[in-house]
Amino acid sequence: MNRYNETLYNAWGQSFAVDKVLFEEHTEHQHLIIFKNALYGRVMALDGVIQTTEADEFVYHESLTHVPILAHGNAKKVLIIGGGDGGILREVCRHTSVESITMVEIDNAVVEMSKEYLPNHSQGAFDDPRLNLVINDGARFVAETTDKFDVIISDSTDPIGPGEVLFTQDFYGSCKNCLNPGGVLVTQNGVPFMQADELVNTYRRQSSHFKDHTFYMAAIPTYVGGAMAFSWATDNEALRQVSLDELRDRFQTAHFESKYYTPELHLGAFALPAYLVKQLKDALG
Ligand code: SAM
Repeated sequence: MNRYNETLYNAWGQSFAVDKVLFEEHTEHQHLIIFKNALYGRVMALDGVIQTTEADEFVYHESLTHVPILAHGNAKKVLIIGGGDGGILREVCRHTSVESITMVEIDNAVVEMSKEYLPNHSQGAFDDPRLNLVINDGARFVAETTDKFDVIISDSTDPIGPGEVLFTQDFYGSCKNCLNPGGVLVTQNGVPFMQADELVNTYRRQSSHFKDHTFYMAAIPTYVGGAMAFSWATDNEALRQVSLDELRDRFQTAHFESKYYTPELHLGAFALPAYLVKQLKDALG
């Protein structure tokens, strides 16, 4: 039996039985493989790192999408950086209040192969008339665009290879410049138990641009090593003060079924464990 061994960490890692390879190639930017596994369904990996699986993607995509959009309460223009598999796009499309979605993905092959081999991720969302798909480097896009957004979602790979630029102070500053007043940036920010530097670096780099910057968390089984962190960055401190009753009302008004997101989890996700609170406190000296 073939196996796919994730190479994100040298000292330890997860291994998947490969029942069938559906697609594999070295794209213009990265090594892309999509394979079938009996437990997780269809699995995509980029440059040796697991990106998404059919079985657990809902936790990640619902967490990274509905927390910022429902906290904002009136998001009309959304920017997705990365997100080539279409999972974030699918969840953003559930919000009928959103009027336009710009998605900036560096690797068109990820989009095309996800449409073909991971259809359950996008579920047709790439055909949504609100979508403007841009194949470009997300860091370059936010540095150059004059467009403004209410919510920016950075659904990137880890800070290795093409994803590295999406974890820099310049990128966060450019995102700040692209936000409408009251807007919010959220990003995939790794598994802090394994990638502590990533959390502390993001915290330091966002501190010079945003009044309210912190993290919220969710446990996604195939992002191994513990719960994953999502960075939260905004000048609108009211967004994290939205009451449970108000979130319940907004979620009910949004009128879609979730598999993971609940208003209670939304609020609870911002409660960080003591060791991370200390790391963040020490980070700013
Ligand atoms: N959920 C995954 C995770 O947490 O690691 C991310 C999945 S998504 C497939 C990551 C996407 O980021 C990929 O499609 C990759 O091509 C894209 N990406 C990486 N660097 C990028 C950049 N500089 N600009 C735009 N997209 C980028």
